[in-house]
Amino acid sequence: MADYFKEKKIFDGKLASCFVYGMKPGGIEKKHYHQALEIEYVIKGSCKTHQQGKFYMYKKGQAHEVINDSNQPLVFICLTIPQESERNTIYL
Ligand SMILES: [Zn+2]
Repeated sequence: MADYFKEKKIFDGKLASCFVYGMKPGGIEKKHYHQALEIEYVIKGSCKTHQQGKFYMYKKGQAHEVINDSNQPLVFICLTIPQESERNTIYL
């Protein structure tokens, strides 16, 4: 089971997708990149890789990871252009 989950769908179309994600304390999403632009905004929680209230932008092909080393859940909104899919997500 993945350490993160889709908490809420904002929209999901071919041009772009946007979800609110949650990640449990101690959760990790391993280093990966997308054939897409990804913009994240942290709604709640702060950890090694993500700070509450901050934006993160990853260009197409730019590797990133999520390491929730805190004891609080991490909640963030994620906009992916074009739409996020298994096909355009490459784990390193
Ligand atoms: Zn990503």
